[in-house]
Amino acid sequence: MERILDQTPTVKSFFVRPANPFTFVAGQHVDIRLTAPDGYQAQRSYSIGSAPNGETIELVIERLEVGEVSPFFHEVVQVGDPIEMRGPIGGHFNWLPEDGGPILLVGGGSGVVPLVSMLRERQLFNVDTPFVLVYSARTFADVIFRDELMRLADADRGFSLILTLTREPGAVPGVRTGRIDRATIVEALSRLGGPPRLAFICGATAFVEVASMFLVEAGVPASRIRTERYGGIPAEKLDATVAVAPEQ
Ligand SMILES: Cc1cc2nc3c(=O)[nH]c(=O)nc-3n(C[C@H](O)[C@H](O)[C@H](O)COP(=O)(O)OP(=O)(O)OC[C@H]3O[C@@H](n4cnc5c(N)ncnc54)[C@H](O)[C@@H]3O)c2cc1C
Repeated sequence: MERILDQTPTVKSFFVRPANPFTFVAGQHVDIRLTAPDGYQAQRSYSIGSAPNGETIELVIERLEVGEVSPFFHEVVQVGDPIEMRGPIGGHFNWLPEDGGPILLVGGGSGVVPLVSMLRERQLFNVDTPFVLVYSARTFADVIFRDELMRLADADRGFSLILTLTREPGAVPGVRTGRIDRATIVEALSRLGGPPRLAFICGATAFVEVASMFLVEAGVPASRIRTERYGGIPAEKLDATVAVAPEQ
């Protein structure tokens, strides 16, 4: 572990230098395995948030109150600790500059991480592929990569950000409140100027299921939708109107 950075009150970035450097494609993840002194092991997947151009990779981990591995990262892991890591993994939820666009990204909570890797890849290669990111967070303080995303949205005419906050008590200028709904997706498609070549949806399982449904209802062919489910209760066990929030 090379560096640890606070991102939000519940999210930290962990910069890991792989012992055997590897290349990866934006959207891929790694598997992390923890082993306790008594031999007990726990394994979890974490998306890579960085673009594939550095000697370290950035993992961005949200601390789940009742979790096993994420609190360990937040409370126990220190700079210098060895981390057992396998990867890169994933051949479906990927974007390469040659894939082109336009691209629709939809993220809930920490589900924004692989989408930011794709955005950073787009910037790294200096391509003008149109990207729209719809990002649902609980409050303004919970928006991961907030400054980077807002700066990019201001500076880059090819990138548009629709930020929506589900639990923000006050109004934030230029930012919506409420959950992602059908109208949010319709607006994102209109900002894209047409149907996306590919749409990437990532977050808690229920979030991904309901957002995918909104995209299909808005006319996006299912064959163009790629999803990454982070876990949690599936949508069928939740009211669909509460599902499209990045609750943990
Ligand atoms: C491909 C992939 C990539 C992932 N990338 C990231 C990432 O970049 N950053 C990140 O923070 N997490 C990511 N996750 C989720 C991560 O793997 C763990 O599931 C998460 O950190 C919780 O682990 P835990 O051991 O702390 O909690 P656990 O002990 O596994 O779970 C505690 C409780 O929380 C519920 N739960 C687990 N995950 C979620 C969730 N996402 N939403 C709501 N409830 C949940 C469980 O059902 C359980 O009830 C990714 C998952 C996958 C499959």
